[in-house]
Amino acid sequence: ARRAFVERNPESRAGFESACQAMPGGNTRTVLFHEPFPLRIARGEGCRIWDADGHEYIDFLGEFTAGLFGHSHPDITAAVKAAIDNGISLSGHNTLEARFAGAVCARFPSLELVRFTNSGTEANLLAIATAKVATGRSKVLVFDGAYHGSLLSFAGGGLPINVPHAWVVGTYNDVAGTEALFDAHGPELAAVLVEPMLGAGGCVPGEPAFLEMLRARTCSSGALLIFDEVMTSRLAPGGRQGELGIRPDLTTLGKYIAGGMSFGAFGGRRELMSLYDPRQRGALPHAGTFNNNVLTMSAGLAALRVLTPEVTRALNLRGDALRLRLDALCKAARANMLFTGIGSMLTVHFTDRPVRSGADVAAGDAALKELFFFEMLAHGIYFARRGMMALSLPIGDLECDRLASAVESFLTRHRALLQ
Ligand code: PMP
Repeated sequence: ARRAFVERNPESRAGFESACQAMPGGNTRTVLFHEPFPLRIARGEGCRIWDADGHEYIDFLGEFTAGLFGHSHPDITAAVKAAIDNGISLSGHNTLEARFAGAVCARFPSLELVRFTNSGTEANLLAIATAKVATGRSKVLVFDGAYHGSLLSFAGGGLPINVPHAWVVGTYNDVAGTEALFDAHGPELAAVLVEPMLGAGGCVPGEPAFLEMLRARTCSSGALLIFDEVMTSRLAPGGRQGELGIRPDLTTLGKYIAGGMSFGAFGGRRELMSLYDPRQRGALPHAGTFNNNVLTMSAGLAALRVLTPEVTRALNLRGDALRLRLDALCKAARANMLFTGIGSMLTVHFTDRPVRSGADVAAGDAALKELFFFEMLAHGIYFARRGMMALSLPIGDLECDRLASAVESFLTRHRALLQ
């Protein structure tokens, strides 16, 4: 499958080799790399993309959830164009910023006040900093398999270049083990930072009992609960927190919220966010030249107008139906293959065991995952090399049918390998 990929994609290969002269690995986003070289994407429209060799794909990656609206959504394109015509770097407070902040707070009730950043990574760095200042404590509990951004990645325990906070790394969905960590570290914990579903880490839903325990134990130990909803806020009109009825102290956002423009945000309880109010003595600094850039603010306002509660629910119902359908095909074939996720986010795993933690994700069969990836590309289905898919609004029945029949033919063709 890999050899066929190389033969089919000479332009992507040549482009990759030439890009390697200026960038390590030929790109500026490590997550996009895979052997032997990634496809060079030339353009997109709706839920389709075309690569440098002219092949058309259905875009089931959806920019790791940031592409929720599909490519060139007319309302978002119009909003960006309208902003451009009024000057793009205004050197001051602006109206779009205030309106967009109001819309974000209205959508997620636990955000009494919000601040914008340029990425989800920055949002998480600032949320952690807020917790450390507010509590006067230093330790932060995170979970194996979680991804909170560049410099904040905990798959396999952590990376040598992670920000040097005093991390305590627990096991996702392990109630008893995590309670033991609260017993050991509780009085020193500034915060628990958790994705309500591991996103990039394999679409592993946080079980309600686990997340409720985190809320209860952070309350009793005086630590802040930070929900990283950079990805999961798309799963319900008020984010996964709204769906679960859990109110975190701080929340971080990113990805799709600004319609695909670069974006991040952190927000939450008024007295915590007021630490950033420059009218207060000793206020915390939070700058960032592009935090209120009008292209992002304008696109974000349009994006949240498009994404009504009804539209959000419909997108996630479509995702649930697709995941259950694909998973049923795997079960019917008695294959060591399954799909996890919630709503519009799903990930394929090559295992027959339940997937509840980062270690469960890592235990899947890597060779089968690679085979699946290259075969799906040959079927015109584009998604993340790690197996993740995220639906966008233009994806309809036709696209879901195409994916299901590609999965079906994979299951038939490799029946023996998948037992
Ligand atoms: N948190 C989560 C849950 C993410 O998935 C990501 C990005 N994949 C981030 C934070 C970081 O966001 P960004 O890439 O915008 O820095």
